Amino acid sequence: MQPDALIETARRLDALGFMPSKSGNVSQRLGGGFRITPSGLPYAALTGDALVDVALDGTVLAGERRPSSEWRLHAEIYAARPEVQAIVHTHSPRATALSCARRGLPPFHYMIALAGGDDIRCSAYATFGTQALAEAAVVALAGRRACLLANHGVVALGTTLAAAETLAREVENLAAEYLDLLGAGLAPVLLTPGEMVAVTAQFDGYGRLT
Ligand SMILES: [Zn+2]
Repeated sequence: MQPDALIETARRLDALGFMPSKSGNVSQRLGGGFRITPSGLPYAALTGDALVDVALDGTVLAGERRPSSEWRLHAEIYAARPEVQAIVHTHSPRATALSCARRGLPPFHYMIALAGGDDIRCSAYATFGTQALAEAAVVALAGRRACLLANHGVVALGTTLAAAETLAREVENLAAEYLDLLGAGLAPVLLTPGEMVAVTAQFDGYGRLT
């Protein structure tokens, strides 16, 4: 486990404007729980000793600070998805804008397949930091590695921290493209299920999917 990698990821996403007002959080699975960024600390001030190790029931195992207020979101996903090793949660602006219309991303571009299927769903709405939000996210993430959270932001999962970060950045990119398309008054031509199967096969061919 590399705590520095968590901090570097959070700082990179913050520098991109994905974590406004100290929002967002990043975690990695650790033993029977996970290590997560703390609550209410500017990412620029984050050091390794500010990270918090949390059990899946929320018990703080190590660390002086309180874990991110969204620790339940991370705990529920780690419990439901044994293959997931890292979670990135952002409020990246374009994807968050789309989430405020409670709309996900249809297969308008082949890179949607990076999230594991034919779409990137938007979850049901629930108050931030609640178990209800954590459960809504797990539903929206079924068979996927990313979803939007209604009126809130983005969650991206990975078998590595780097993969989760890459996916969070791609979701923002796709949301920007989709909003530009809609803003221009154009109707997207969606890829068919067969075309998306071919995309997934192509990704599998060079190990892109993680
Ligand atoms: Zn959030």
